[in-house]
Amino acid sequence: MSASVALSDLGIPVTVFESAPQLGGRARGLIYQGTQLDNGQHILLGCYLQTLRLINKVGGNINVDFLRLPLQLDLNGEFSLRAPHLPAPLHLLVALLTSKGLTISERLNAIRFMLALRRINFKIPHDITATEFLSLHNQDTALVHKLWEPLCIAALNTPIHKASAQILLNVLRDALNNLRSDSDMLLPRIDFTTLFPQRAADYIKQRGGNIRLGCGVESLHLLDKFIEVTTAQGTEIFSHVICATQPVAAARLLRSIAELRESVAQIDSLEYQPIYTLYLQYPAHINLPHPMLGLLQRHSQWLFDKGQISVQHGLIAAVISAEGIHQGLSHEELAQKVIAELHEEFGIAEQPKWFKVIAEKRATFCCSPKLQRPLQLTAHPRLMLAGDYTAGDYPATLESAVISGLKCADVISAITNQ
Ligand SMILES: Cc1cc2nc3c(=O)[nH]c(=O)nc-3n(C[C@H](O)[C@H](O)[C@H](O)COP(=O)(O)OP(=O)(O)OC[C@H]3O[C@@H](n4cnc5c(N)ncnc54)[C@H](O)[C@@H]3O)c2cc1C
Repeated sequence: MSASVALSDLGIPVTVFESAPQLGGRARGLIYQGTQLDNGQHILLGCYLQTLRLINKVGGNINVDFLRLPLQLDLNGEFSLRAPHLPAPLHLLVALLTSKGLTISERLNAIRFMLALRRINFKIPHDITATEFLSLHNQDTALVHKLWEPLCIAALNTPIHKASAQILLNVLRDALNNLRSDSDMLLPRIDFTTLFPQRAADYIKQRGGNIRLGCGVESLHLLDKFIEVTTAQGTEIFSHVICATQPVAAARLLRSIAELRESVAQIDSLEYQPIYTLYLQYPAHINLPHPMLGLLQRHSQWLFDKGQISVQHGLIAAVISAEGIHQGLSHEELAQKVIAELHEEFGIAEQPKWFKVIAEKRATFCCSPKLQRPLQLTAHPRLMLAGDYTAGDYPATLESAVISGLKCADVISAITNQ
């Protein structure tokens, strides 16, 4: 959608083929029991500049569409950190210094670490795992456990012992090192399909583009000057194609194209990590102490009070990122664990009226060190790849997906202007 918006702006007509009956992909709204949910609770960071710009461009208003919270981590009594209104990176240093749940030497250790990262410009010569990197910088067990591990899992959706230190540093660099607002956390007040792709679709249609829902691409065939796109509705030809599916679907579509062998091999080498989101509808008076808070050593890693975020009173979302023992539980068993945790941690004794577990088994690629992610530009000049898994500085995020689409649009506009 980001590529299509950018191309529409340039007066280049686009056709978007979407196999699902609705837009949004891995960030989509859905209705359950008459309640608006998302396939997963999404958080944007203030440094996701391209995504936020695009939401505003297609008719959103990021000041209205999001609950914007200054950087804060609250692990329900185990640890808390809150950034004061100071310029970056002072806001982070003061937040670390005044955080609760760590000894003074641990807090100074975290500050020394952040200053060391600034000195090396958040770049390491050879990528290693986040666990190895943190240990090289003497970040002890409590610091890793309460601060770096929750941050790493939330940002990279990858267990810390498998996660790329360099990609983690890229996120820390962009979120913590420039403007204070970059580290803000933005929680959508509306569902994700409405927030961006539906508005983008309207924007594209107003500029002459086509959006075909429920119209999956079955095959691509490269001709001399065109690419044939075949769907259940027939075959059409286009000058350029941006393949913007999730990686497994991209590999399936591209496998038969000899020139794309290298891109397909890179996609095939990706591994995946899940994200589970459990929604629980409690009576309307039930709420949490904060809109968003974390738990340590629990199934629920992060809890979101949708009453405080999107006026959906009594609705709580529990998010479990990356692989773990929860994958061995049935949805009913997982829900019972989370219900017990809410009881023990917050005294919520009532039972929810309903719950819904959404298990995205391939939520993101596993963001491990030295990954060879496929470039947007492939060996075929008229066929490009977009998506969160393509080459870039960020882990699998909305921002990496958006940036990849914009890069493809840039290439096409440069070619068509020649
Ligand atoms: C539960 C969950 C929580 C997440 N939380 C966050 C978060 O807090 N912050 C964040 O930044 N990111 C988060 N992410 C990651 C983020 O959602 C993804 O990085 C982003 O949505 C990827 O976008 P994409 O366009 O690359 O791919 P997708 O969203 O997967 O879009 C690909 C689209 O291609 C369509 N498609 C597939 N095959 C075909 C075909 N043959 N023909 C036509 N269409 C096809 C699919 O239906 C889909 O709509 C989360 C992801 C999940 C699953």
